[in-house]
Amino acid sequence: MASEAAGVEAGRDFIRDIIDADLAAGRNTEVVTRFPPEPNGYLHIGHAKAIWLNFSVAQEYRGRCHLRFDDTNPTKEEQEYIDAIKRDVHWLGFDWGRHLYYASDYFDRLYDWAEHLIRAGKAYVDDLPAEEMRVMRGSLTEPGRNSPYRERDVPENLDLFRRMRAGEFPNGARVLRAKIDMSSGNMNLRDPVLYRILHATHPRTGTTWCIYPTYDFAHGQSDAIEGVTHSLCSLEFEDHRPLYNWLIDNLPVPSQPRQYEFSRLNLTHTVLSKRALTQLVQGGHVKGWDDPRMPTLAGLRRRGVPAAAIREFVQRVGVQARANSVVDIAMFEHSIRELLNKIAPRRMAVLRPLKLRIDNYPADGGEELIAINNPEDAAAGTRSIPFGHELFIERDDFLEDPPKGFYRLAPGREVRLRYAYFVTCREVVKNAAGEVVELVCTYDPTTRGGNSLDGRRVQATLHWVAAAHAIPAEIRLYNSLFTRPEPDIGGDLIGELNPMSLESLTESRVELALATVTPGEPVQFERQGYFCLDPLSAPGRLIFNRTVALRDSWTKVRAIGAQSVEKI
Ligand code: ATP
Ligand code: MG
Repeated sequence: MASEAAGVEAGRDFIRDIIDADLAAGRNTEVVTRFPPEPNGYLHIGHAKAIWLNFSVAQEYRGRCHLRFDDTNPTKEEQEYIDAIKRDVHWLGFDWGRHLYYASDYFDRLYDWAEHLIRAGKAYVDDLPAEEMRVMRGSLTEPGRNSPYRERDVPENLDLFRRMRAGEFPNGARVLRAKIDMSSGNMNLRDPVLYRILHATHPRTGTTWCIYPTYDFAHGQSDAIEGVTHSLCSLEFEDHRPLYNWLIDNLPVPSQPRQYEFSRLNLTHTVLSKRALTQLVQGGHVKGWDDPRMPTLAGLRRRGVPAAAIREFVQRVGVQARANSVVDIAMFEHSIRELLNKIAPRRMAVLRPLKLRIDNYPADGGEELIAINNPEDAAAGTRSIPFGHELFIERDDFLEDPPKGFYRLAPGREVRLRYAYFVTCREVVKNAAGEVVELVCTYDPTTRGGNSLDGRRVQATLHWVAAAHAIPAEIRLYNSLFTRPEPDIGGDLIGELNPMSLESLTESRVELALATVTPGEPVQFERQGYFCLDPLSAPGRLIFNRTVALRDSWTKVRAIGAQSVEKI
């Protein structure tokens, strides 16, 4: 059941309407759902939608939601993934309590039910090579043809199936198929495979088995064993539903679950497929499953996205529309900003520093100024920030020759330093290469705190840090992994990667108060965005990840073309 933290308000949708109708008609007296990941990769934000739906529905109807690992393919599944999935579901704010299950817990029963089908003349062992079997299944426009092994009698089928289990045959030599209808309009009913031979070590059952049930044979039966009432899955399983029902109808299962489908979550500039994400990790295109650019829950967490923002987002997307659609990543970023705006303390950090010396401020002087921690939250209070003779400001807050519309610092111009003073640029110091290396300014001591006594106004307020007190830090800016809004996962996915997805700034300086933040604690760097400390930071080597920029820089990038990302 969902924890308190995840107590999100439910909208109405067709899934909840179906459940209401089932309860009203007495078809169910309780609501039991499940989230059934295959442990072959890390969970991504698409899974968050399925997790939210299953757990929040169970919570609303005072039922329960199981976490069930669909671990029927030992060649791709690993304990690392099982552990990561449990960690991520908990982090997202949901709890399965004592209802943790594995499809592999049911291997004995599933095997018995396979024999049950054989005895009823409803399943047979097929020796056809895979390729021939595929051809004989026909196509959407062409009926399939019966396998020459389809009419094997029950004793022969039982004998062969038992020998499959005993390990007498190599991988792929034989399969067990349901005997349904090779001319069905639904390809899934054309004698689907129920068991295949896989000589592989399973993370939980070791080498006990060398035959494994397919998804179709394991899923509905696991639902029935656990008393799941509403088996909610994504739309690609819609065509499997007749098979799901056929198996439930033809087996002595202890309950009658029903499957309902909802649309998958897709996001622009993102891929949400474990196969594609595995390719990125294994090919070294990202630095692991928790790379902050990844749409995995582990990646989003490391990037600083709060679990509550993910819950809020997937709930907003909801399941109102049944059709698949692509949600603009900007909507996700909006949910993140909206939450962080309320909770993240404001700090000052200079990403690309330019030295600013205040000529008329004592070189050995210094003072503490008062800064507001969060204008959205009075309870967050204030802090003091050190000021001095030498400061750093943002390099792109100065232009020697400012175009129309540029209001920040320029020669001869006066601006406000946030919470500090008005300063005027008097002199521009350049190196031999002609690059600006320092600005010499004067300050007006009567503007302490940021306001002039004479009512004089300035056009810009800049953030800054004091050179003597600021801490060096590395700041990592992330942009979308993919340049195109809808990357083609069937095509050259690697070729579509955004070469500017990570920009690492190693010269940054952050204010003293940031020395004590912990990973995962959100902060806003004024005028820049929301950031959090990377878990791989160490004292003396701070690394901050940008969770999200303050404004939607992507809209701009799209307008100018991806090459200009670094200029935004
Ligand atoms: P992928 O396609 O990424 O490999 P999957 O469907 O194979 O995902 P599973 O581990 O089988 O991954 O998924 C567990 C559950 O999560 C399933 O019920 C599936 O329907 C759901 N799910 C997976 N991806 C999405 C998504 N993008 N949006 C909504 N639900 C999803
Ligand atoms: Mg799957």
